Amino acid sequence: MKVPVISVNNLHKKYGNFEAVRGISFDVLEGEIFGLLGPNGAGKSTTLEIMETLRTKTSGEVTIKGMNLDQHPNEIKKIIGVQLQTSGFYPNLNLTELIELFAGLYNREVDPMALLDKVNLRDKSKAKFKELSGGQKQRFSIATTLINQPQIIFLDEPTTGLDPQARRNLWELIRDIRQQGTTIIITTHYMDEAEVLCDRVAIIDQGKIIALDQPGNLIDKLLAAGFEKAGEAKKANLEDVFIQMTGHHLREE
Ligand code: ADP
Repeated sequence: MKVPVISVNNLHKKYGNFEAVRGISFDVLEGEIFGLLGPNGAGKSTTLEIMETLRTKTSGEVTIKGMNLDQHPNEIKKIIGVQLQTSGFYPNLNLTELIELFAGLYNREVDPMALLDKVNLRDKSKAKFKELSGGQKQRFSIATTLINQPQIIFLDEPTTGLDPQARRNLWELIRDIRQQGTTIIITTHYMDEAEVLCDRVAIIDQGKIIALDQPGNLIDKLLAAGFEKAGEAKKANLEDVFIQMTGHHLREE
């Protein structure tokens, strides 16, 4: 039996009079890749930031690894890894210097080369952050979430703006991290990505969860309800053509 590592119970968040999160409840299980999906403004980032201890909630209960968020925020911070927006990195420091800076903030001893190895950036250890390609920047920002050897990491739209090769490369990295026992909560606007990567997804709309299940189950339910796609479905799409023609290997390396 898998145990919940995160339990969110009847979570509410108001910004002034506007209620962005309206009574959300869900569990994230140990070792799971859990997706938060939903249109812009649905309340995904707000929910994520509350779990990350970066935003206060209005009401409800969040428990992470058995610790109540209100009572043990500092203990929770020690076991989670939070991905910063890539704009948050000093552009003129090199990757080794940035890792040392973060390790200092976390008060941890870290071997920068070992960490860069994990995300396939050893060759770039002396490169400045601003010199990296989009995919490399995202890989580096995921590396920084691992500095404190967290049990849970939160990734907010990690593949936005990446080319198909870099996106697939990041999926592999995310799966590798999960393979090592880390639970992953991810937001994405790409449904193909959620379908291949997430064990379960919660679809949020207007501050409420409207569906929560394995992607395959949600698709089966829709089909069982009589849904049919307009037009003839082909067994490949344009992205398959693109990857077939340009290969899986990463560019701009
Ligand atoms: P999502 O990540 O799903 O796009 P957000 O959690 O960012 O959604 O936002 C949910 C709603 O809350 C949106 O309508 C947004 O405009 C509003 N909102 C987010 N942050 C603030 C804030 N600091 N002050 C006021 N309203 C906010």
